[in-house]
Amino acid sequence: MGLVYVPLGKAIAFLLSFLNDGIFAVTDFLQSLRSLQTIWPSPDITWIAAYYTFLALLYLLWKKIKQAKAAKLYLDFLHGDSAPSEPAAPFDPNQISLTADPIRQLFRLRIFLLFTISGFALLLFIGYTPDRFSRNGLVQFMDVGQGDSILIRTPEGKHILIDGGGTLSFHKPGEDWKIRRDPYEVGRKLLVPLLKKRGVHQLDTLILTHQDADHSGGLQAVLEQIPVKQCLFNGTLKPNEGLKKLFRTALKRNIPLIAADPSHIMSMDAGTQIQFLYPFLAENNQIRVEAQQNNQSLVFLLQMEATRWLFTGDMEMSAEALLLKAWKGETERPPSVAANVSIDVLKVAHHGSKTSSTEEWLKYWNPRYAVISVGAINSYGHPSLEVIERLREHQIGVFRTDQMGEVQIGVRKGSLFQRIKLQ
Ligand SMILES: [Zn+2]
Repeated sequence: MGLVYVPLGKAIAFLLSFLNDGIFAVTDFLQSLRSLQTIWPSPDITWIAAYYTFLALLYLLWKKIKQAKAAKLYLDFLHGDSAPSEPAAPFDPNQISLTADPIRQLFRLRIFLLFTISGFALLLFIGYTPDRFSRNGLVQFMDVGQGDSILIRTPEGKHILIDGGGTLSFHKPGEDWKIRRDPYEVGRKLLVPLLKKRGVHQLDTLILTHQDADHSGGLQAVLEQIPVKQCLFNGTLKPNEGLKKLFRTALKRNIPLIAADPSHIMSMDAGTQIQFLYPFLAENNQIRVEAQQNNQSLVFLLQMEATRWLFTGDMEMSAEALLLKAWKGETERPPSVAANVSIDVLKVAHHGSKTSSTEEWLKYWNPRYAVISVGAINSYGHPSLEVIERLREHQIGVFRTDQMGEVQIGVRKGSLFQRIKLQ
């Protein structure tokens, strides 16, 4: 009887050791990638329950297999097939159940162990990429206080980050004592943990609309801790130490820094495209030093399945007017977008400041919804009541991060759904 199972038992043992080696190889590989070591999304309660159930099951199986092995050894000894290698262990009566056929039992247990290990591996895989099977696109306007940071997950699971929030700091001469030794740093304290919690293992594209601190400040920590495949920026450089450090970090990590080109459409996945509209590239393709950044903000259209979104950074009304003129054919620049294109969602420029979002601009784009990313307590008076009123007059649904916390708008089978996530 036992002879029948020997080859099968060997095959299973081989398979188990192969699986074991496989798990070690994967673990080694993951550990060799520095950035993947810690990026595990926060699991939900059912995942945690399943994890501990698997651990308990593996422990029980290990004990049972040990018992069955002891019983088999004992029987072999009784039948005089072989002498036990460790005579003391097999004769412990608590360890041996002689009622079952130990060889058959051992076989069943090993099969069960194989299934359990496979199930456990699958659970780990699901825990590592919980959204792998989701086909929804999701745009997350994160609550970074006064500033912008928007995370986009495309239906095929690509991640795009637009800006990284940051803190603007003003110090009058002689007030150095007011500077905190360890100031709150949005990137390190909020943005990076949030990205990791959401299972962002890498950013396929990082878009820095412009270089003011409330958009760029948090990105230093992002570049240091999360792999980034490419970084698009507005083709200028703000003369500032923080920015120099940020660009140097990108170069050190071999992240391509690309000045966004309005003449080309960037495909993110099969149903997601980004079309840059502004600013127009400098004639000589040179990077310019530019201290005033608002009107150098990257403006771009995102098309995700059948939905259209406009991102505007902190552009002001003069840039809005310039673009409208261009599209009406009143300037030399050829129009980049077809006329009368309604959009679904508008990221309101410059935190809802009255220096942007003119009547003409809103009329041109005719958005269904508008999102204002703005801090609950800010000294600029953002968003302006005038802009809020204008949006209402145009019957545009308004979402505000200062009142609602993070605003998430998703795309499911070509239509929008919305959820608010208070933090
Ligand atoms: Zn800003």
